[in-house]
Amino acid sequence: MDKLFKGVIDFRESEFDRYKDIFSRLSDKQSPHTLFVGCSDSRIVPNLITNTDPGELFIIRNIANSVPPYRDSDDVLATTSAIEYAVQVLNVKTIVVCGHSNCGGCAALKKIDKLDHLPHVKRWVSSLMPVYEYVVDLMKDKNESDEYHEEWYFEQANIVYQMKNLLTYPYISEKYNRGEITVLGWYYIIETGEVYNYNPITTKFELIK
Ligand SMILES: [Zn+2]
Repeated sequence: MDKLFKGVIDFRESEFDRYKDIFSRLSDKQSPHTLFVGCSDSRIVPNLITNTDPGELFIIRNIANSVPPYRDSDDVLATTSAIEYAVQVLNVKTIVVCGHSNCGGCAALKKIDKLDHLPHVKRWVSSLMPVYEYVVDLMKDKNESDEYHEEWYFEQANIVYQMKNLLTYPYISEKYNRGEITVLGWYYIIETGEVYNYNPITTKFELIK
C-alpha cells in the first residue's frame, strides 16, 4: 500500500509537471476521440500502448473486453451506460475493442465448471460461450489441437464477436451505416508490444506497422 501513496506524491511533485498544460486545458471538459474497450488485465495499459495523452481515450475495462449485446433493461448496466455516454454525449469517432494474448478471462472458459466459487465471474465469462464453441468447432475442422493456437484463435474470435455486439446498439449501427463512426478490433501481444488490427475483408488480424 505504501507504494501507492508514494506513487501519488511522486506523480504530483514531479510527473504532473509534464502534463500541466494538458490537465489545465481539460479541467472543465473532455473531448476524447476514441472509446477504448479493453480487458481489466493489469498488463494492458491503453494510453501507453497507443501513446496517447489524458483526454484522448474514454476507457471501459472489464474481464475479457466484453460488450454485452444491446438490451433495454431496468438493471444497472455499467458497460452499456459507458458506451451510451461515449457515443451519444462525447461523440467519439472511433471505438476500439482491444483483446490481448494470455487473457485469463478467455482462458477461464475452458474451466468454467471449476468457477463455482466465483459466481459473478462465471456468469460474466459465460456470455462468451458462443465464441468458445465456435472456436472449438473451428479447431476440429482444422484438425489442430495446439493449445497455443486455440488460445489465440479464441482471443481473436472474441474481439470480432464483441465488435458485432457493438453494432446491436441502435445508435452505434446508425452512425456506423452513415460512416460517422469506425469500429476497430485490436489484438495486443503482451511480450512484444505489437498490435494487430482486424481486417474485415480478409477476416485476419494484421500487424499495425
Ligand atoms: Zn484479458
